Amino acid sequence: MRFGFDIDDTLINVREQAFHIYNKKLNKQVPIEELYKIERLEIHEPFGMNDDEGGQMWRSTEEEIYFSDVQPFPGALEFLQRLVEKGHKIFYITARSKRHGDRTKQWLRDKGFPVEDDHFFWGMKDEEKINFIKKLKLDYYFDDSPYVLKTLLEESVQVFIKDQTYNRAINLPRFESWHDFYLGEDGKLYLSEKQTKS
Ligand SMILES: [Mg+2]
Repeated sequence: MRFGFDIDDTLINVREQAFHIYNKKLNKQVPIEELYKIERLEIHEPFGMNDDEGGQMWRSTEEEIYFSDVQPFPGALEFLQRLVEKGHKIFYITARSKRHGDRTKQWLRDKGFPVEDDHFFWGMKDEEKINFIKKLKLDYYFDDSPYVLKTLLEESVQVFIKDQTYNRAINLPRFESWHDFYLGEDGKLYLSEKQTKS
C-alpha cells in the first residue's frame, strides 16, 4: 500500500516546539496548557501578539523551529518504521519551502524516519497537495489540515485527520495518537475502536 503524510503537526509537534521558542525569545513563561486551548493554527495570541506581530515572529524563528529538536508525536516514528518493514511505500508531502526542503529531508532521516529520495515533496500549497495526492495514487493520507482532507473525501484515498484543537469542528476520520493504528492480517490499516470519535 501507499501511505502519504503531511509532516508539520501531523508527524511532528512543531507548534509545541515553536511555543517553547517563543517563550524563550520573548522571555516569558506562558504555560504550555495555553497552547492546547488555541482553536487556530497560529500560536501567537497567548503571547499578546496581534496577527501581524505573530506572522513576523513566526518568520523570524521558522528556521530555528524547524531544525531544532522538534519531537515526533508518540508512536509516529515506530508506525512509519513498521510500515516500511511490512513492505509499504511512504511519501512525505509538505508545504515547507524549497529553501528548507533538502534540509528537512535530512532532518527526518536523522530522526530515524524512513525517507526515500524520490518520495519526498516540498513546497506544496493545499491545492497542489490535493492534485499531487491524487497523482501519487495513495491508499492512505494523513494530515492535520481539514481543507486538504475534506477535498479528498470523494477520492479513493482513505484520509485521516490528526486530532488538533484547531480542527475539531471538522467531521473526518480522526485519530488522537499514532498508537491507535494497527495493520490487519489483510494488510489494511485499522484504527482502534475505542479511539474512534464521531
Ligand atoms: Mg500540517
